[in-house]
Amino acid sequence: MAAKYIFVTGGVVSSLGKGIVAASLGNLLQARGYRVAIQKLDPYLNVDPGTLNPYEHGECYVTVDGAVTDLDLGHYERFLGINTTQANTVTTGRIYQTVIERERKGEYNGKTVQVIPHITDEIKRRILRLGSCCEYDFVITEIGGTVGDIEGLPYIEAVRQLRYELGAGNALFVHLTLVPYVKAAGELKSKPTQHSVKLLLENGVQPDVLVLRTEKDLPKEFRKKIALFCNVDPDAVTQSVDVPTIYEVPLVMQEEKLDEVVLKKFGITNAKEANMTAWKKFIEKYKQPKKTVNVGLVGKYVELHDAYKSILESFIHAGVHNECTVKIHFFQSENITEQNVAETLKGMQGIMVAPGFGERGMEGKIQAVRYAREGKVPFFGISLGMQCAVIEFARNVLGYKDAHSTEINPSTKHNVIDVMEGQKNISNPSGTMRLGGYECTLKKGTLAQKTYGQAEVTERHRHRYELNNEFLPELEQAGMLASGVNEQTKLVEIVEIPSHPFFIATQFQPEFQSSVLKPHPLFMAFVKKIAE
Ligand code: GLN
Repeated sequence: MAAKYIFVTGGVVSSLGKGIVAASLGNLLQARGYRVAIQKLDPYLNVDPGTLNPYEHGECYVTVDGAVTDLDLGHYERFLGINTTQANTVTTGRIYQTVIERERKGEYNGKTVQVIPHITDEIKRRILRLGSCCEYDFVITEIGGTVGDIEGLPYIEAVRQLRYELGAGNALFVHLTLVPYVKAAGELKSKPTQHSVKLLLENGVQPDVLVLRTEKDLPKEFRKKIALFCNVDPDAVTQSVDVPTIYEVPLVMQEEKLDEVVLKKFGITNAKEANMTAWKKFIEKYKQPKKTVNVGLVGKYVELHDAYKSILESFIHAGVHNECTVKIHFFQSENITEQNVAETLKGMQGIMVAPGFGERGMEGKIQAVRYAREGKVPFFGISLGMQCAVIEFARNVLGYKDAHSTEINPSTKHNVIDVMEGQKNISNPSGTMRLGGYECTLKKGTLAQKTYGQAEVTERHRHRYELNNEFLPELEQAGMLASGVNEQTKLVEIVEIPSHPFFIATQFQPEFQSSVLKPHPLFMAFVKKIAE
């Protein structure tokens, strides 16, 4: 069948978890055997979120083809077990960039270039392109922001037009709203939902399905009332009640028959039942951990947990796999010093040093590595975390007291981390980086190779600096081994210390490839070691 399009909008407030509901719907359709693509339209003007401060926007997710994206794409991949690409992420900045470049080339033949039709046409093109590229049955498009936002208007207009052009049987709207419970009155309130649907109607969009976010179960009568005032079939008024883990949302939406309602609206009557067995097993295990382990996450954005979203989720996946709860303790690396490191990290059964950019907190991270290395505490470093591990080793084992990354100290004589020749001349802020998936060949018999159980893997990168191979022979001789290397460039992707119970660090970011049904091997091995 030709792809059917599902547009997901949100109203009343932000942070309703649209991405989670969209991904859950995708998950349920996928579990019925359908091919599902899922896409996020972000109304901000940044071309991609790569230049956004993690404090403001949470982590930048990286796709295998090197797109730097909103963290919702991470949810999509973790829920659906698929690889998203550049085509799954659209920002207003990107849309305008494309339109303006076209205008500069004279491709609009002297016409006045306007939001309607030129910007809306480009939005439509990007939605349809996803639907026509790979024989998808369903394309789910989540529109970022809240209905009524000025910057969201072109998107709402674009999907309104698409629904008209594709016809009712081929496109539909799912709208998420909030039903607040007013304690003083002891009542659930439907008004915000009514207003939000009215706003949509003002823009020419009638939602087909409502998902009401709520803390409490919504009585049938309440749903009927909403159905009546919002012109929505009563069975298409569903609820998404708060649950202890986001991974339970697909199951609660299945109970709400969200997928069934959607299929019915499309006139699809011969769908297979959704097979959620593996998913249910995951949730059961999640709810019955046999023990709790404590991991210290050392980073500089620890005040905003979303800055480490994929890492936290990867620990959940790996924890469930090992039948334990991984309790993450956040440590602000800026506050860690040589004097207080032991006291600060005491009791941590494993230590992770997180990715990051810039000087702030770097020395604290290096101290944390030293503590883990010398104290034989299981250690896992990611990206900047690996760079810190190499610097620490060069300083304290090789004795190069000034060893550093040239990101922080450009004039150090012992530039154990440096920009490699090929990358020196690139100057655009994201272009300076090594982005997306690169192959990594694993050295036989190493912890890395045994953990993956493979000879070669592809992992995702987002960094500019690399281990400087000039120092590799010395590092290896002193006991830090390069266990993963990219064969084409000879860049070191993984280091480990074989004499340590568990010390591994990767230049790539494995957290971008962990999903519910396929936890990442390195996270699993790290947690397993700690839980031993
Ligand atoms: N700042 C380091 C680099 O650019 C590490 C980046 C990261 O941790 N993702 O190489």
